[in-house]
Amino acid sequence: MKIQENISLKNYNTFGVEAKAHYFAEVHDLHELKYATKFAKINHFKILFLGGGSNLLFTQDFDGLVIKLNLKGISEEILDENHVLVSAKAGENWHEFVLFTLSKNYGGLENLSLIPGNVGTCPIQNIGAYGTEIKDHFVSCKALNLETSEIEELSLEDCKFGYRDSIFKTSAKGKYVIVEVTFKLTTQNHHIKTEYGAISTELKNLGIENPTIQEVSKAVINIRQSKLPNPAEIGNAGSFFKNPSIPLAQFENLKEKFSEIQGYANGDWVKVPAGWLIENAGWKGKQIGNVASHKLQALVIINATGNASGKEIYDFSTQIIDSVKEKYGIELEREVNIL
Ligand SMILES: Cc1cc2nc3c(=O)[nH]c(=O)nc-3n(C[C@H](O)[C@H](O)[C@H](O)COP(=O)(O)OP(=O)(O)OC[C@H]3O[C@@H](n4cnc5c(N)ncnc54)[C@H](O)[C@@H]3O)c2cc1C
Repeated sequence: MKIQENISLKNYNTFGVEAKAHYFAEVHDLHELKYATKFAKINHFKILFLGGGSNLLFTQDFDGLVIKLNLKGISEEILDENHVLVSAKAGENWHEFVLFTLSKNYGGLENLSLIPGNVGTCPIQNIGAYGTEIKDHFVSCKALNLETSEIEELSLEDCKFGYRDSIFKTSAKGKYVIVEVTFKLTTQNHHIKTEYGAISTELKNLGIENPTIQEVSKAVINIRQSKLPNPAEIGNAGSFFKNPSIPLAQFENLKEKFSEIQGYANGDWVKVPAGWLIENAGWKGKQIGNVASHKLQALVIINATGNASGKEIYDFSTQIIDSVKEKYGIELEREVNIL
């Protein structure tokens, strides 16, 4: 493993913004990972772990050691006649891993097809789409404790998953690097979920009545490709903001003023689609300089010209937050990690 200096991160983040890593190392196994983290500790360098770079925004150079996680490998263990445990190392690409499980006819992850990024990152924000979150199939993950240099196994309960949330973003932030994740998947009698988003409509378009897990995955891929910009073509990090939850009373007040406002009630709270708020605050498709809100999905901020800096994207997101706050009194929270 080589520790390189002054490396451009432009090709390592899906926004495609320029930023430099003072030090940069790619690690392929635990031994290299431990060596790199020790090197940083001895030299008092900050560390940034990098997966696919699809959920971060560099607003400045990184004055420390960037560790690109390239640990690879998938293993399986039959659990019972209906279930299998499948484990993947942190550097496996998420979508390729999902396709691997589908090629074996293992069910559970099909609705999470085509989400960018790596397996090791999926627990951090409990990735989710189309009615499924990884917590629904997560068994445990192995993580290197950066204080003790020991590998620990964290259970579903330990990880305290919430909506785009886990301990890795809260109480254990900066404490671990995840090196492997294990899922419990079905080998037969799959639980097919088609009631979310446009899945059932897409399946109808494909002429499919009783879909297999592979066909659900195909429908999800088609929908995602039709409405989300491909980061390989237009720089973006998917949804830039989380969907805010507001108290029911506040939602009812807003409903009186904005009768068409959308919301999904959950007890005394209502989740409001951030995309709706941004679109109705007039941002959909709007471009300022090199940055825009995507014309098909207002929640996605794009590097419209390919020349945007991270700072420009950040400032654009601040303008959206201010404008939504002014119109609806709701404070949007960024989903993307800002560096
Ligand atoms: C077009 C597009 C669509 C998207 N759609 C969705 C979606 O539907 N649902 C969804 O939930 N997300 C979505 N995302 C967001 C993104 O795909 C996920 O958050 C993904 O898990 C990020 O993985 P990554 O490897 O690219 O993370 P990175 O961007 O590399 O890292 C994100 C953060 O995690 C830290 N990190 C990375 N790896 C590890 C590790 N092994 N251990 C500890 N910390 C680590 C990094 O330091 C950083 O802070 C989308 C993004 C894009 C670009």
